[in-house]
Amino acid sequence: MNVLVINCGSSSLKYQLINSDSEEVLAKGLCERIGIEGSAIVHQPAGGEKVKTQIDMPNHTKAVQLVIEKLTDPQEGVIASLDEIDAVGHRIVHGGEKFATSVVLDDEVLAAIEQCNDLAPLHNPANLIGINSCKEIMPKVPMVGVFDTAFHQTMPKKAYLYGLPLSYYEKHKVRRYGFHGTSHDFVSKRAAEIMGRDLKELKIIVCHLGNGASVSAVKYGESVDTSMGLTPLEGLIMGTRSGDLDPAIVTFIAEKEGISAEEVISICNKKSGVLGLSDGVSSDFRDLGEAAEAGNQEAETALETYAYRVGKYIGAYAAAMNGVDAIVFTAGVGENNAQARGLIGQYIGFLGTNIDPEKNKKRGEEIILSDADAKVTTMVIPTNEELAIARETVRLMK
Ligand code: ADP
Repeated sequence: MNVLVINCGSSSLKYQLINSDSEEVLAKGLCERIGIEGSAIVHQPAGGEKVKTQIDMPNHTKAVQLVIEKLTDPQEGVIASLDEIDAVGHRIVHGGEKFATSVVLDDEVLAAIEQCNDLAPLHNPANLIGINSCKEIMPKVPMVGVFDTAFHQTMPKKAYLYGLPLSYYEKHKVRRYGFHGTSHDFVSKRAAEIMGRDLKELKIIVCHLGNGASVSAVKYGESVDTSMGLTPLEGLIMGTRSGDLDPAIVTFIAEKEGISAEEVISICNKKSGVLGLSDGVSSDFRDLGEAAEAGNQEAETALETYAYRVGKYIGAYAAAMNGVDAIVFTAGVGENNAQARGLIGQYIGFLGTNIDPEKNKKRGEEIILSDADAKVTTMVIPTNEELAIARETVRLMK
């Protein structure tokens, strides 16, 4: 079966065509600047070169049309016609409390997703546009929605409720939802496989450290807590996001700087995190590492503050589960950045992680960082959200 995986943002659309039997990526690519001047599609067939084509894309329907053209192109393509796409799997950011698992997308489900729009105003409307565009261009191909929030719907009340008047939860559904669920689920399952243990007997802490970052506590295969909240702004210090704050800071800064609370929140999302802490050096951990190496004090402080927060969350989640068997690092920073892992490692040794500094130098592959006799197996496991979406799509098609 060939599954087209679509991850649609407000002005971008990422895609992968995956053969679900061999789990091979047949082709992948990205449409960028949709609806903006200078739009382009970057397409790469398996084993081939990346080719960037500047082309006008006034809307997402045009983008989906171009993706199909590229996939079926006699030169750059990998399939003969649209008939070779058996299903489409869509990444959807927010499923609220309605979706605890992936679903086949029909009109009723789409209406329910639309009701979650105000919980993720930047993401969900874009996801829906992508779905509707695919529906228009391939009306007969079945589609599945895979939610970032679904995996975390197993959290108990004590983990998802905020210390606010209960009526806000009841009236407006203000609660912790958590994100990156597809990744936390994929990586925790793989951790159990690598350990040769049953997932149902393991307590695992997953650190998904990318531009956006979150930690989750996965107990016996279920998410019992996670660091992102109502929105992806809570929790860890990220590339540009502040993570946890005293909520009173928002109106305090608004008053001092003469800006609105909304503007402060926008700064918390786009200009904070390690970018803000480093006084503008970069949101990218490679740049930060180089700057710190060259003696930039702010970059060094940003890295230390970042690692300290991750360390604290790991400690908290070990307590939340009353123990931990495995700690896993994943996503761009978690998979590749030995320096960040090393800094985090300073805070978690007491759990019995025994991270070997030599093993920690490796990157971008599955690595067991801890010694064979360590009490807590600490690992790097590359995440693969697209493959997880393809697997979910196939599961629902069956
Ligand atoms: P996103 O949340 O956008 O999917 P990623 O998971 O791709 O983010 O993570 C991006 C981060 O990973 C960047 O800060 C980048 O510096 C870091 N990263 C990626 N590759 C490397 C590498 N080889 N060495 C160090 N850091 C890396």
